[in-house]
Amino acid sequence: MKVNNCETHIDQALDVWVEKEESFSQISFIPEDEKLSTKHTDCEELVLYVVANE
Ligand SMILES: [Zn+2]
Repeated sequence: MKVNNCETHIDQALDVWVEKEESFSQISFIPEDEKLSTKHTDCEELVLYVVANE
């Protein structure tokens, strides 16, 4: 599983993640070349973080 998040929603997203997945998640910055073209689906701010467990 892999989820994109903006700066505003990253904290909230991590809470939801822990409830749903109950597992360690890895947070990384979105690659520079995807940054400007990727928007968070909830709010349309630019995505900064990728949360993943794979
Ligand atoms: Zn957002």
